[in-house]
Amino acid sequence: MFRIFARDLAIDLGTANTLIYEKGSGIVLNEPSLVALRYEGSKKVPVAVGARAKPMLGRTPEGVKVIRPIRTGVIADFDAAAFMINHFINMVRGRSRSVTKPRIVVGVPSGITEVERRAIHQSIGGQARDVRLIDEAMAAAIGCNLPVAEATASMIVDIGGGTTDVAIISLKDVVYSVSIREGGDAIDEAIINHLRRNHHLLVGEATAEMVKKAIGSAHSDFDNQELEVRGRSLISGAPASILIDGAEIREAMDDVISSIVSSVRQALENTPPELSGDIISRGLALAGGGAMIRGMDRRIAEDLNIVVSVANDPLAAVVEGAGRCLEDRTLQPYTGGR
Ligand code: ADP
Ligand code: MG
Repeated sequence: MFRIFARDLAIDLGTANTLIYEKGSGIVLNEPSLVALRYEGSKKVPVAVGARAKPMLGRTPEGVKVIRPIRTGVIADFDAAAFMINHFINMVRGRSRSVTKPRIVVGVPSGITEVERRAIHQSIGGQARDVRLIDEAMAAAIGCNLPVAEATASMIVDIGGGTTDVAIISLKDVVYSVSIREGGDAIDEAIINHLRRNHHLLVGEATAEMVKKAIGSAHSDFDNQELEVRGRSLISGAPASILIDGAEIREAMDDVISSIVSSVRQALENTPPELSGDIISRGLALAGGGAMIRGMDRRIAEDLNIVVSVANDPLAAVVEGAGRCLEDRTLQPYTGGR
């Protein structure tokens, strides 16, 4: 396809996954936020990005390391992040070959600093005619069809890989937000620790994530499951497999789940009464990959006595919402002037 004007893009630069939405087309890219780097002396040379880097996690040849350039929501390794973002944009644009550069909207965490904003502008600037930042919580709320423009308060809880972000939105404005450095990664780590301490079994991040998705939960209603897990025995050093059950994994995850619930409680407590009334009557929405943890919605609902709904596609809520801002200019909830 050949056209003069590039189609606008919306990007969700997550700690775990990067998604790109193209105006008029929808989601056109969904890749893990990973870069494999080969260390040549003091130089780092990217050798694989995204889904191609994923199989290298934990089994990279000597001198190669797989990193996640976005940590706790912001850019941790500027060069690797810039390489990754540009690579993804090229993957998307490779199909269209337009003459102009696209306008790009990027989702950013609420608490982002000026330095971090500048880093995002710098890493994407060369690829775009115009870069706008949109608050991720706002994007997720729009993606969940919450009434962000109304004079009522909406609450969105986005449980990602590196962080959980809780925000209250009213009249197109984020009126309260809190971010904690706990999310899916911390759960995976808790599972690794549990298997090491209680079963003397060493497993990697990928196995821990698989266990979480297969039998992990936030509510005892889902305890009734078993799974065989393979790893390396810390006693014999040989490959070993053990049978684990849902209840022990739920318990292993519980510290992280409790922190997430506490951050929601804290947000409710810090909300002005006229807004918290809206939230209590309308409930809150869960987004991000962590929204898919079994029983997460029920756990929050029971602990906080509030109605909880889950996004249709939790992993896509932010990019869907940012994309909707491209389609509907009246939404325009961009943060800051740049
Ligand atoms: P980010 O925005 O930080 O990139 P995402 O919203 O993409 O994060 O969510 C990624 C997290 O969600 C990872 O920790 C992943 O393991 C977790 N996740 C994805 N699917 C599931 C699932 N079905 N059950 C539990 N956790 C999940
Ligand atoms: Mg996210």
